[in-house]
Amino acid sequence: MLNLSYQYKLKCAPDQAAAIDEWLGICRSVYNYALRERKDWVNSRKCLIDRCSIRAEYIISPETKRPTYSSQCKSLTAAKRTNPNLKIPQSQVLQQTLKQLEAAFVNMWERGFGFPRFKKQMGSFVFPQVKPDAVNGNTIDLPKIGKVEFHNSRDIPEGFVCKQIRVIKKASGYYVSVSIGCDVDVPDIMPHGYAIGVDLGLNSFIATSENQFVKGHKFFKESEGQLRLLQRRLKNKIKGSRRWLRVKRQIGLLHEKIHNCRKDFFFKLAHQLCDGVGMIFAEDLNLKALGRSALRKACLDAAWGSFLNILSHVCWKRGVYFAQVNANGTSQICPNCGTNCGKKKLSERVHHCQNCGYTTDRDVAAAQVVKERGLNAVGQTVSTLVEGKDFGAGVYTPARVSL
Ligand SMILES: [Zn+2]
Repeated sequence: MLNLSYQYKLKCAPDQAAAIDEWLGICRSVYNYALRERKDWVNSRKCLIDRCSIRAEYIISPETKRPTYSSQCKSLTAAKRTNPNLKIPQSQVLQQTLKQLEAAFVNMWERGFGFPRFKKQMGSFVFPQVKPDAVNGNTIDLPKIGKVEFHNSRDIPEGFVCKQIRVIKKASGYYVSVSIGCDVDVPDIMPHGYAIGVDLGLNSFIATSENQFVKGHKFFKESEGQLRLLQRRLKNKIKGSRRWLRVKRQIGLLHEKIHNCRKDFFFKLAHQLCDGVGMIFAEDLNLKALGRSALRKACLDAAWGSFLNILSHVCWKRGVYFAQVNANGTSQICPNCGTNCGKKKLSERVHHCQNCGYTTDRDVAAAQVVKERGLNAVGQTVSTLVEGKDFGAGVYTPARVSL
């Protein structure tokens, strides 16, 4: 089974846009209500029964079970009898909203994400099941909303059918992300060809085992001044007024632009890495540990995670084998002889091995360790560290990749 997703911009009629807005509002209130229910339950379990009730009180009976996806779906169905608003969106859409909340909790339990928060606004909702031919020419058939026109920026390939449709509201308009699938067996990509290792770092966005560096773009920082200006303007406007709304929209557009620029950079970089190689290995990022470290930069680790997602997708598309390896101690081990050279300070930019005298940039050394680990994992060994390249002891000239 081959799955892809294509995104299109919608050309909504005013009543369709209003309907989407209304659905998003209802999804939001369902999400927040269900979160409230879960939060109350969690809080009630934190307080001991014999404690003073001034600060906290055990209000939920001990027999009450933890709200789950299925129990909340049942209460949603029951609530529809008394609340006609809940009947407006298609029922599966609201169930998916509850599933989204469940996923947020699973992320917290298993991946160390924070406690889910109440939503000020809902960005999207999803139709989990749609007609296979929901997309037809320039119109897309959304259940209960009807046929909506869209900019057909690329045709759905022959043999693919629609599986799911997500409707997204962005500052620049309404979009649909259509998941399409095709009943073909795609063979897994086998390890082959030349391998490179990639180290994700702070100094340069990535360093490869081939002594290449790619400087990170500080997309957010570049627009920070503009953003601050807009936010100052927003503060001087009356909340909810037309001018306030206009500035608010400008801020949204700017955020969207930053996001798009970053995504574009990631895709181009991923394609560049895939050129001429058969395997790419990267570290398995431990976002949980990173989040706790002193170098915590929320935007930065988010960027690493999404870059690796994009990289794995691009590799798959280009037929390049991609794998992530254990990142423990990649910056301590010498890639040439395998000795553990001890922890380096962040300011120490060069790896110099006391055992064999191997000298190279520290990020490159880490990338070479990643490459070796990857090759070991797929059952190949490296005869020479870097083919056709000679690192004389002490000589270190990084090659820059220009983008
Ligand atoms: Zn060494």
